[in-house]
Amino acid sequence: MSLISLSHVSKTYPNGHQALVDVSLAVDPGEVLAIIGPSGCGKSTLLRTVNGLEPVDAGSIVVNGREVTSGATKLKDVRSDVGMVFQSYDLFPHLTVMENLLLAPKVVQGADQAEARERALGLLERVGLRAKADARPRELSGGQKQRVAIVRALMMQPRALLLDEITASLDPEIVREVLDVVVGLARDGMTMLVVTHEMSFARAVADRVAFMDAGRIVELAPPEEFFAAPRTERAQRFLNQLVF
Ligand code: ADP
Repeated sequence: MSLISLSHVSKTYPNGHQALVDVSLAVDPGEVLAIIGPSGCGKSTLLRTVNGLEPVDAGSIVVNGREVTSGATKLKDVRSDVGMVFQSYDLFPHLTVMENLLLAPKVVQGADQAEARERALGLLERVGLRAKADARPRELSGGQKQRVAIVRALMMQPRALLLDEITASLDPEIVREVLDVVVGLARDGMTMLVVTHEMSFARAVADRVAFMDAGRIVELAPPEEFFAAPRTERAQRFLNQLVF
């Protein structure tokens, strides 16, 4: 059974722009789906609909058996199932790394503090940042902040992660350290929807690639197939424009 499924989802912004057009998609547990396509094609909107950050006009979205698009579903429950990491890390600057990590489990889940702290230390260890538990965000590099943001999402023990261009604001030489964390999560079986401009990363980590154009998924294929022989003219043009 799919962990995430979208069925005929459409979304038009109040300004009249149709960002998603009849999108259907099913993601299996443990699957990593890379979502790629030209700027403005709806990638970020698609991710945001999956955890209820963006309401849809038509269609339904079910995550872990819960219908996100039903008014009866508590978004708090959806967001415990699905963590999200953004391009901007949005850590609270006045709080330490540990305080940033303990905030949501405490406020949203009412988690036991000692247990949450242990979990935080274990996750920080895993991303190579245990020694930074008491540091403040300004003392960290961009790559370190983004790794903390990933840990913050993992603190909620989500069933799936949505990653929205998480390396886009990083210097090229530190992109690798963040991508390595994502590769590790993929190996451990985390289900992920990954919006990325890093084609080599999509190729390496994704089980399937969804290529979007003008609000639609126009190709959905394993990376080796998609990158070697894109079927649509639009995808061929997109790939030809990229500098590898
Ligand atoms: P991508 O992530 O592929 O760059 P987005 O999902 O961010 O694309 O945006 C898809 C389209 O919807 C773009 O044309 C964008 O300008 C528009 N859009 C995104 N967010 C909003 C919004 N809050 N209000 C109006 N239009 C929006």
